[in-house]
Amino acid sequence: MMKKHNILITFIIFLSLGSCMKSEEADLVVFNANIFTMDESNTKAEAMAIRDGKIIEVGPDRQILNKYAYDASMDAMGKEIYPGFIDAHGHLMSYAELLLSADLVGCTSQKEMVRRVQDYEAKSNKPVLVGMGWDQSLWANNEFPDNVLLNEAFPETPVCLYRIDGHSALLNNAFIKLLGEFDVPNGGAVLKNASGEYTGLFVDAALQLLEGLIPKFSNAEMKTKLLEVQEELFTYGVTGVHEAGVDANQRELLIEMVDENSLSLNIYTMLAPSDANKEFARKNGIYRNQNLLIRSFKAYVDGALGSRGALLKEPYHDHPNYKGLSLSSMEELETLRDFCLSVDYQLNCHGIGDAAVSRILAMCKEAYKRKPDHRFRVEHAQLVDLAEFKLFTDYAVFPSVQPTHATTDQRWAASKIGPERMEGAYAYKSLLNSFGMIALGTDFPVEYTNPFYTIHSAVHRMTPKDYPAKGFLSNEALSIEETLRGMTIWAAFASFQENQLGSLEQGKDATFVILDRPLNKKPIFKPNYAWKTCIKGDIVHSLE
Ligand SMILES: [Zn+2]
Repeated sequence: MMKKHNILITFIIFLSLGSCMKSEEADLVVFNANIFTMDESNTKAEAMAIRDGKIIEVGPDRQILNKYAYDASMDAMGKEIYPGFIDAHGHLMSYAELLLSADLVGCTSQKEMVRRVQDYEAKSNKPVLVGMGWDQSLWANNEFPDNVLLNEAFPETPVCLYRIDGHSALLNNAFIKLLGEFDVPNGGAVLKNASGEYTGLFVDAALQLLEGLIPKFSNAEMKTKLLEVQEELFTYGVTGVHEAGVDANQRELLIEMVDENSLSLNIYTMLAPSDANKEFARKNGIYRNQNLLIRSFKAYVDGALGSRGALLKEPYHDHPNYKGLSLSSMEELETLRDFCLSVDYQLNCHGIGDAAVSRILAMCKEAYKRKPDHRFRVEHAQLVDLAEFKLFTDYAVFPSVQPTHATTDQRWAASKIGPERMEGAYAYKSLLNSFGMIALGTDFPVEYTNPFYTIHSAVHRMTPKDYPAKGFLSNEALSIEETLRGMTIWAAFASFQENQLGSLEQGKDATFVILDRPLNKKPIFKPNYAWKTCIKGDIVHSLE
């Protein structure tokens, strides 16, 4: 009897000890996982406890399951967990617009392009037709289009078709007529054929002429499509995007959607340097609204390589005497730099050609002197003068690149810049070695949103079709770990959010992806998806 009583007491003590041990409370415990925390020492773990959307502890299953009383638990079934992927350079707005326009992505001829616009006209019934996504490098002759076929198909209706990179557009004559008399702005080109007639091709700053003539989509249309884009990103475990340049209306639309709690993606926004946006920055300073952070400007210093808009130090290999387009002078950059420093904003400059990158680096010299942790970024950095890689360290300039651009452009990059300059092209490893960090993105919708393409391109320097077999300039490949850091913690760093995002550690957002299959490390592309995507502890996407 006595003995039994003792056992009972012991049992009660054990129970109360157990509940005492479990006195720490969590909303959710994720266990039986293969967690890549991406912390400084690359710790791996099995479980994590989450409260109020934050990670409160990461550790072995037994430790976490024994310590916490929890409302819900998730058995990750041994799957891999990473911090939610961050796309350090994307265009939510352009992607939504693309989905509302005639979709020309993947067209293999001008004929097909025109047919797709006809199909679009039939169902959209718009007075001005806008299309996006053609890429002449996918066509048999690789040559820039002219508007002959377009004029035949659309003699009356104005049509404007943007190239995939958004740096040029093909207009039909009905649209050109709307422009009346015009001067080509600095940093722009309007192409003519041998007999002096417009070919319909407008490049870079010449696209400013179209402002006001391209019909805007309604906020309601944009919202629907932005939510579709968000859903697509979630299916891949992408939980954050650095939105690379919005105008004042787009900025307000983002704020509205965040206020309505319809966008839960972490959005780091770069503002276009318009007067209205500058006024916003002056008034608000660093603007934080839940999952939206606005504290940077985006400037274009040149155009794109594919449309010979990139600004080169020496002429194009396939166009002697031509060095590309300058979209911001040194003086303009310096003025913008000073403004950004005065409102504590970051300045992210689109620089593709070596002359553009060189100008940005030179502008950053003074920024570094005044504010060593400015984190100003070069977006793209596709061609860098070999002598200038070290300036990324010297002036603390953050390289932000898109690995899929390398594997897409490998088909024609050498034809534009010639073989000698390829050593400084798409040189991600050299940029990483210089600065010590690199931010990775896709530039969607120029490339696909799929982060597994980014990984394959960065690590193997191959397209999803595993081309080229030995990899494109494979000495510039990143390791898998460097690539993952570029998509998580370094991207967080590039947006001043490293204390909140980018790794799975105590005190950070419980924002993560559980992959459906283990990350593929082989040079053979295999599709993958998020099994579950979580933002601040909430499941925002589930494969089942
Ligand atoms: Zn971009």
